[in-house]
Amino acid sequence: MSLFPAANIYQPLHQLGEPFYSEVPPQGLRNPALVHTSASAAELLQLSPQQLASDEFLHLASGNSYFQPCPPLATVYSGHQFGVYVPQLGDGRAMSLGTVKGPDGEWEMQLKGAGQTPYSRFGDGRAVMRSTIREYLCSEAMHGLGIATTRGLSITTGSDKVQRETVEPAAVLIRLARSHVRFGSFEFFHYNGQHQRVKQLADYVIERHHPGLLGEQDRHYRFLERTVTATAEMIAHWQAVGFTHGVMNTDNMSILGDTIDYGPFGFMDDYQPGFVCNHSDERGRYAFSRQPAIGLWNCNALAHALSSLVDSEQLTQALQQYEPAFLDTLAELMAAKLGLKEQHTNDGQLIDSLLATMADNSVDYTLLFRRLCDFDSENEKIAELFNNPDDFRKWAQDYRQRLQQQDWPQPQRCAAMKKANPKYILRNYLAEVAIRKAEDEQDYSEIDRLITLLASPFDEHPELEQYAAQPPEWAQGLSLSCSS
Ligand code: AMP
Ligand code: MG
Repeated sequence: MSLFPAANIYQPLHQLGEPFYSEVPPQGLRNPALVHTSASAAELLQLSPQQLASDEFLHLASGNSYFQPCPPLATVYSGHQFGVYVPQLGDGRAMSLGTVKGPDGEWEMQLKGAGQTPYSRFGDGRAVMRSTIREYLCSEAMHGLGIATTRGLSITTGSDKVQRETVEPAAVLIRLARSHVRFGSFEFFHYNGQHQRVKQLADYVIERHHPGLLGEQDRHYRFLERTVTATAEMIAHWQAVGFTHGVMNTDNMSILGDTIDYGPFGFMDDYQPGFVCNHSDERGRYAFSRQPAIGLWNCNALAHALSSLVDSEQLTQALQQYEPAFLDTLAELMAAKLGLKEQHTNDGQLIDSLLATMADNSVDYTLLFRRLCDFDSENEKIAELFNNPDDFRKWAQDYRQRLQQQDWPQPQRCAAMKKANPKYILRNYLAEVAIRKAEDEQDYSEIDRLITLLASPFDEHPELEQYAAQPPEWAQGLSLSCSS
């Protein structure tokens, strides 16, 4: 059995050639075993359950084989990390196996954790099981929420161990992306003065992802414009679900505006605008409420890297589209969350005052919006989320008035709101339970349960009601190491 017909897999990066990448033989895991595969991601590649269960897939997914005759490729990039330019990064532990032509588009398959590359710097090229499980779960959860993201296809483990703060089991992830090109991929060539290569890379992305712009005089400007708006829209979606990425360095920003490189991310439990999920982010640069501004900062860095292709006036013009794209998308998403059919001028105030009360009252973000779907019939259940329930009752008066301005019967509004307010999100403690079971007992059933649940987070799953709950006491002080 072969996984893909030869005509369906190829390596588009060959078009660019070195020095955009280096060929690297993967260093496979010993005694490989499958931890999990995502049936939903596999569909993108038309891989059947039988193929996923085959030895051929196991060898590929654990880095023990690759598509002959194409050795995997690690790409070079640089980027701004916490605001500081780092001249050489690159795929230090990731390598592209090739791109698969699927029924609805092409997906680049990347191994993460299959050994060192010329860009590994001091790293061992490996990934630990816990961070691999987190990335895998979160990519699939974000997809379930309808947020642009890379996908997780599989996790394999083996007998190899790696040293972090302690010795931990190694794992290999296969992730899928429409493109793994990052803002930092452009910065690398720009800061090395290789402007011809910046152009080559821009034209490569345009040809593959914006073919309508091919041959246009202003294609580089319009390409930037599309990246800027896609980034703004992606971040608006993050804000609407309470997601904090944690490491919004420019090397972790996808050129297509897909969420990529899940590290110490976090979904907020209690609403706290200043929430910082990454414990090494001491100054809170990537706090929840700063993400929109950081997104623009990153687009600025990308614009600078394209300054040999686009004149400064046009760069500014492209960047000016960030704010309206972000605000419009967020306003639309928040209106849907509140069950407002059309937007009115004062809706921003209504939302802001709700968020401010939620912050004051340590209200769980996801629970609040989900319960709000049952306004006005279950108001006491909503009010009890507030330390001071009267704060909610006061806001509810304004909300009730606002709802009266529209003609939308409660049952229909409620049904629509339930499609905008997820019941289940990947709370940190849920991921932690799945990781503990996987590492300590080689029991992967919790990963499976979460993958299934989070694929349809807006639906009721009565048998898994407890997965919607706030964190239990043991998880209150859960600290997220950014080592991975
Ligand atoms: P990250 O913060 O995970 O986005 O990683 C930043 C850079 O460090 C990227 O260039 C990674 O490829 C590289 N890196 C992170 N961990 C490792 C590792 N264990 N081995 C090699 N390179 C790594
Ligand atoms: Mg990264």
